[in-house]
Amino acid sequence: MGWTEARVARLRDLWKAGYTARDIADDLGGVSRGAVLGKVNRLGLSVQSRFRKPIPCNEPESARTKSCQWPIGDPGRRDFHFCESETVVPGKPYCPDHCAAAYRTPQQWREENAEAVDRFKGGSTVGGWGR
Ligand SMILES: [Zn+2]
Repeated sequence: MGWTEARVARLRDLWKAGYTARDIADDLGGVSRGAVLGKVNRLGLSVQSRFRKPIPCNEPESARTKSCQWPIGDPGRRDFHFCESETVVPGKPYCPDHCAAAYRTPQQWREENAEAVDRFKGGSTVGGWGR
């Protein structure tokens, strides 16, 4: 099925409303998710063009970072949102919890995941997967 003007307009509206390529493909019918994404690219509609709240130029700098900017969920989905905790570490865009997650070192990561790393190293590579 081709891209009529009406279908392209509907694609544009749904995309801007935050629907996923999968949702749009289902809605339009006769196109795959890949075809929808291809069309979105050709139309110059990117994922980045969605979900970005316009920031008024006259807003003071401090007001922009007063809530946690940690993204939660898949940016391609409608339930995507930011943490928006009001307790933000000074000079950082995240709340203390998400600062810890964002700025932890590889060493810390290894300590926290030691068990999984050991299992990976110690496990047999023959038939050892998926158990
Ligand atoms: Zn947070």
